[in-house]
Amino acid sequence: MSNLITHWADGAAFAGEADLWADVTNPATGRVSGRVALASRADADRVIASAMKAAPAWGRTSLARRTQVLFAFRELLNARKDELAVLITAEHGKVHSDALGEISRGQEVVEFACGIAHLLKGGHSEGASTGIDVHSKRDPLGVVGIISPFNFPAMVPMWFFPVAIAAGNAVVLKPSEKDPSAALWIANLWKEAGLPDGVFNVLQGDKVAVDALLESPDVAAISFVGSTPIAEYVYESASRHGKRVQALGGAKKHMVVLPDADLDLAADAAVNAGYGSAGERCMAISVLVAVEPIADDLVARIADRTATLRIGDGSKERGDVSDMGPLVTRAHRDSVAGFIDSGEAAGAKLVVDGRSVKVDGDQAGFWLGPTLFDHVTTDMDIYTEEIFGPVLSVVRVATYDEAVALINANEYGNGTAIFTNDGGAARRFEQDVEVGMIGVNVPVPVPVAYYSFGGWKRSLFGDTHAHGTEGVHFFTRGKVVTTRWINPAARPAGGLELGFPRND
Ligand code: NAD
Repeated sequence: MSNLITHWADGAAFAGEADLWADVTNPATGRVSGRVALASRADADRVIASAMKAAPAWGRTSLARRTQVLFAFRELLNARKDELAVLITAEHGKVHSDALGEISRGQEVVEFACGIAHLLKGGHSEGASTGIDVHSKRDPLGVVGIISPFNFPAMVPMWFFPVAIAAGNAVVLKPSEKDPSAALWIANLWKEAGLPDGVFNVLQGDKVAVDALLESPDVAAISFVGSTPIAEYVYESASRHGKRVQALGGAKKHMVVLPDADLDLAADAAVNAGYGSAGERCMAISVLVAVEPIADDLVARIADRTATLRIGDGSKERGDVSDMGPLVTRAHRDSVAGFIDSGEAAGAKLVVDGRSVKVDGDQAGFWLGPTLFDHVTTDMDIYTEEIFGPVLSVVRVATYDEAVALINANEYGNGTAIFTNDGGAARRFEQDVEVGMIGVNVPVPVPVAYYSFGGWKRSLFGDTHAHGTEGVHFFTRGKVVTTRWINPAARPAGGLELGFPRND
């Protein structure tokens, strides 16, 4: 196998000494397309050492120079994002246009980070006490680790590393071993943009690599995104090892449709947000809460729309003709199909069955079509579990209050949405729900880069959300400097003074 996907440290690729490799597959063909290195502790130590070596000088590099590198990275990314999108589709399976979309959302964070000089400005108080001035500043942390999931191999790392690097830190990125090539491509782009060697590093691997980052005394902070059990583990382990940590976990997103809503708009939104990227988004809609009497009508409109979706290989070479690609691995595809079996067995009404989908692509791909269940109840595991596939469950309720109670009883609190034409109801919803990101007639309310992304409850462990001002805060720590300069024309008498300073 010629395509070896390696680590990246000191500004160059290296294979590592472990000589352990995992297969990477193209989900649209089912064929192995490459092998990714799985780091040993020693490999991880080498990558972390590369970041440690580079961090001090980068942290002292002028804001003007750091900003120039960020702008150069932004320009290169903009010019060449098509190459990155092709890599993402080949390992993740999402269609080319969707891969381009994820890159654009990540690029917004790069653009936000280009304003770092303004974002790092501190406060200054002249004459805080007699002859005393005070100013505050924010310093970088040093080396920071980013651990990302398979579903957004470019966007999720870009929630963090533009801000971390702009703020003067060195980064070790541990991508998902399912689609590891995007991270290496990004490392090359940073080099081309003029980032000094060692400021951006890639550590490939599994739990061994993650544990090395969590336990290393040289890593000051961890940003993690992935499933809730691993997020909780990462939060606990990294905290125990004295690190600052933000660990974003899983989700079960509800979309409420009130009886007064525009049902065509709501049906379009449910299809886009339920089946886009084959439902492998933490902000995908997985539960549609229909407030009666509209459920029959809404379910029919959604079912009609699913029939128009083209399922198949969404690669650029094939013309990006599909709306929905395959799932990421055979095991994940089978797990999602298992949920469809279980929903049917539990008595939910299977309106559209994705198991029997007709596909435009290699039959060995990891295919599953859009699936729609109606009359789902809260005891069914299609309701309680995060399925992370193209399965939309409709729960029927009689009132707005019942809809809100469902959302607030859920263990997750990542995102939610309401569809209505009643501004008062939408405003009340925004106040009532215990959720971090809310959409009003917007099904996937991912905040723009200058706001922060993050959920509540078991969707986020830690205090700080990603990007926006919270991101800047996470990747820096404050200092306050109290300064006294003696006026040479009026030197005080001096002498010892054991009390508090007087403000005469
Ligand atoms: P995952 O938890 O399996 O993996 C995430 C990362 O953790 C990967 O880099 C993986 O290598 C590593 N990892 C896996 N098992 C580990 C272990 N036992 N010990 C240490 N590290 C381990 O998640 P995934 O399947 O790649 O991604 C899908 C999940 O991510 C879903 O639950 C989804 O909701 C969640 N997600 C959440 C958000 C958010 O913003 N909250 C965004 C994207 C994805």
